[in-house]
Amino acid sequence: MQPGQTHEVVNQPPPFGARDLWRDDLALRQALEREGGGAFAAQVAAYGALAGGELLALSHDAHRDRPRLRTHDAAGRRIDTVEFHPHYHRTMEAAIGHGVAGLSWARPEPGAHVARAALSYLHYQAEPGSSCPLTMTHAAVPVLAREPALRPWADRVAACRYDARDLPAADKHGLTLGMGMTEKQGGSDVRANTTRATPLPGGDAYELRGHKWFFSAPMSDGFLVLAQAPAGLTCLLLPRRLPDGAPNGFRLMRLKDKLGDWSNASSEIEFDAALAWRVGEEGRGIATIIEMVMLTRLDCMLGSAGLMRMALSQALHHCRHRHVFGKALVEQPLMRNVLADLAIEAEAALALSMRVARAVDAAPRDASEAAFARVATAIGKFWICKRAPAFVNEAQECLGGAGYVEESLLPRLYRQAPLNSIWEGSGNIQCLDVLRAISREPAALAALQDELARGAGLDADYDGALARLPGALAGAREESRARRLAMHLALLLQAAALLQARSPAAASFCASRLREGPPAVFGALAGDTPFASLIGRAG
Ligand SMILES: Cc1cc2nc3c(=O)[nH]c(=O)nc-3n(C[C@H](O)[C@H](O)[C@H](O)COP(=O)(O)OP(=O)(O)OC[C@H]3O[C@@H](n4cnc5c(N)ncnc54)[C@H](O)[C@@H]3O)c2cc1C
Repeated sequence: MQPGQTHEVVNQPPPFGARDLWRDDLALRQALEREGGGAFAAQVAAYGALAGGELLALSHDAHRDRPRLRTHDAAGRRIDTVEFHPHYHRTMEAAIGHGVAGLSWARPEPGAHVARAALSYLHYQAEPGSSCPLTMTHAAVPVLAREPALRPWADRVAACRYDARDLPAADKHGLTLGMGMTEKQGGSDVRANTTRATPLPGGDAYELRGHKWFFSAPMSDGFLVLAQAPAGLTCLLLPRRLPDGAPNGFRLMRLKDKLGDWSNASSEIEFDAALAWRVGEEGRGIATIIEMVMLTRLDCMLGSAGLMRMALSQALHHCRHRHVFGKALVEQPLMRNVLADLAIEAEAALALSMRVARAVDAAPRDASEAAFARVATAIGKFWICKRAPAFVNEAQECLGGAGYVEESLLPRLYRQAPLNSIWEGSGNIQCLDVLRAISREPAALAALQDELARGAGLDADYDGALARLPGALAGAREESRARRLAMHLALLLQAAALLQARSPAAASFCASRLREGPPAVFGALAGDTPFASLIGRAG
């Protein structure tokens, strides 16, 4: 030891470092191929290396140095601008350039939605805050494409170019989009919206007056918003800049001081004679915007699956390098149980999310897949997003005290974890939607049953749980039981996805989640679980 040196630093894991998030993730590589996105493997692979390297490194500053609202310039003129850390812009540029927001529209061929889903999952692992504008941009396109006059907006998303300049949409190479539904008096119940849309003479233009209480990514070029027009709640496109370059008639009141999601700005906004163009029929706003919401909900599933994956990778890294009581943590029997259980959960979340991505991909060509996507999105959004906070907390605990300290990634992941469950329709809303689909939409129920039947005969625990399903469905008319039903269906769907994939995690998933019921804590798998192979498969 040198004079003045008090101790040697030993038994501390090396830095997590740059990772190839594609190469390290066998379950993802298999899922991309299985669900029909194999033709895009090179593109997804390239993003895996970028996301786990440069973007993960940049994300720390983009997260720590939060966006700032500047309401006025030095001369006192309103500018209603949000400033982001330069790393945020670089991240957006990389993501959009690689198709995280636009691939499905740039290359509208079979498998594109599956590949974009994989990109979205990878991106969330590196920088979840920017996933919000990316997913809204992606999801707005089918809604915009309904109106021929708005086709140039959709085309500029498909261009896969990030253009951060605050200019009118027509002057930009690429566009980003946001969404404004939630108001102070109602978020889940958007029918309570009070923002008024008054038709302007001659055409599809309206003037908005009112507010939105949550309005994320306010520097987007346009926003799909809901407002009360004469015939009822209507979907409208609100441009950030008017076509002549003047600012539109809205004011950013303040930014939300959020638990997490710090690199992303979420604002409160007021409309004062703001210009917007109608999208879809007047009075059919919810039916119009739901197409966007279905896609953002799928990204909530993918995001939470990505968050689990990153938390698991961090936990595995730590446990492989940290020694306790004479052994690496990863060799301690009880820690192996925890890690294997996390690995099963993460793979199940990914498998179901990618299966739903395939359904979204096939939906325009296959009515049954469209019906499956409709109901499985609600089931998966509820369950996967709900599992994320407990999962991240468990992964955090694998790091001991280090997992509670900001220099590790875990506090950031932990703050992010509850969000996907809250926005885009909170948990109860998803469960009520599952109930609605099952009781009122025969095609959705039939598609669900077909999918579950594909897993039959492959695992005795699965078959037992499937046999209990008719009873669960029969008692499922009451709203108070909707969570029970959604959970039952989610576990069956995850199991069916793993079984059809012939995943080595399938049997342990079925035994621990279907035979014994979902455990209250991770790490309570049966003693005969193949811990080593499950952990090894996780990378
Ligand atoms: C960081 C962040 C960013 C956001 N960004 C946006 C954005 O860009 N655009 C946007 O439009 N919104 C945005 N939101 C808003 C978000 O979508 C809403 O907060 C969410 O939909 C819930 O609405 P609410 O807050 O009004 O809660 P409420 O509607 O009051 O719901 C409160 C709780 O009651 C439950 N509930 C509601 N109805 C029922 C029922 N019938 N039975 C049982 N339980 C019920 C809900 O599930 C929820 O748990 C954002 C939210 C957050 C946190």
